[in-house]
Amino acid sequence: MANIFESIGGVFNTATRGVSEQAKNASEVNNLKRKILYEEERIVEVFADIGKKYYKNPEEDPAVMKELCDDVDTRRKRIMQMRKELNSIRGCKICPKCDAEVNEKFQFCGVCGARLPDEDEEDEFGTPMETNDYFTESDSFFSADSVKSY
Ligand SMILES: [Zn+2]
Repeated sequence: MANIFESIGGVFNTATRGVSEQAKNASEVNNLKRKILYEEERIVEVFADIGKKYYKNPEEDPAVMKELCDDVDTRRKRIMQMRKELNSIRGCKICPKCDAEVNEKFQFCGVCGARLPDEDEEDEFGTPMETNDYFTESDSFFSADSVKSY
């Protein structure tokens, strides 16, 4: 009898470990989603800012406009980086051509047929993990104004 219980215990332990691993991934996924949402909201705000500036003064200093556009670019890069992380957690990758989510084991996109980069290839234009430093304070970083809307 002892043997049966031991083996059940063994199975149970393995299963529990799997669950906590999943829970960890789920919270990472949520965290990344929240950060992506935050950046997307900021981008909308910056676009609105560009519009307002132009509305008030169409002759606005191009340097001011460029700074805002650069801000959008930076945030978009950050979003791309986070999407990549998100996909590696969920075991899929994004088609570089049509943005479809594809299983990471596939070599070609099921939607448009484009060849998908291998994980090694992705690294060459992936930025080092510096983007993470930006979010070290994670929860306090997302101040009330960005969370309020939901
Ligand atoms: Zn595609």
